[in-house]
Amino acid sequence: MNKIKNAIRTIPDFPIDGIMFRDVTTLYSNSEAMKEVIKLTCDYWRNEGLTSIAGIEARGFITGSIIANQLSLPFVPIRKKGKLPYDTLSQEYELEYGKATIEIHSDAINRNDNVLIVDDLIATGGTALASIELVKKLGANVKGCTFIIDLPELKGKEKIEEIGIKVQTLCSFEGH
Ligand code: AMP
Repeated sequence: MNKIKNAIRTIPDFPIDGIMFRDVTTLYSNSEAMKEVIKLTCDYWRNEGLTSIAGIEARGFITGSIIANQLSLPFVPIRKKGKLPYDTLSQEYELEYGKATIEIHSDAINRNDNVLIVDDLIATGGTALASIELVKKLGANVKGCTFIIDLPELKGKEKIEEIGIKVQTLCSFEGH
């Protein structure tokens, strides 16, 4: 786990003052640390009866697609509004300032699929909770969520666990 945490670079005051940006590009370029991310994640979820992996744009696409491939499961992208070309379902959610919308292809997940949602980091949980809603709207089950990084002060992980969904995180950082 330390190998993973040590490979993540922190950029203070990006993109705005007061945010400690946890930069996973240095982790993604470290093949040894990435092998550990993929192994820990696949070992944790392998026997959970998953049928689909949904990755959140953009950093969730990278780990999500490797995990899907390792588990021989389909990968499904959850994208920002206006990027997906076919019929979509949308979900709006609150940001610290303003709102955002994410989308999924309406045929990407089947009713009764067992889905794992993947992103690099959980902060307030807004993005992950909106993704959970999208998957549920398609009639599928959210088996769990996995993130490389938890920011426990922002309580996103707690919010997801409170609605009965299992959450895996691989390391955590104090602060925002
Ligand atoms: P939230 O919806 O508040 O849980 O925020 C999670 C999303 O915002 C993830 O897709 C993260 O990539 C990004 N994010 C939020 N806070 C940070 C941070 N301090 N460093 C890097 N990415 C962040």
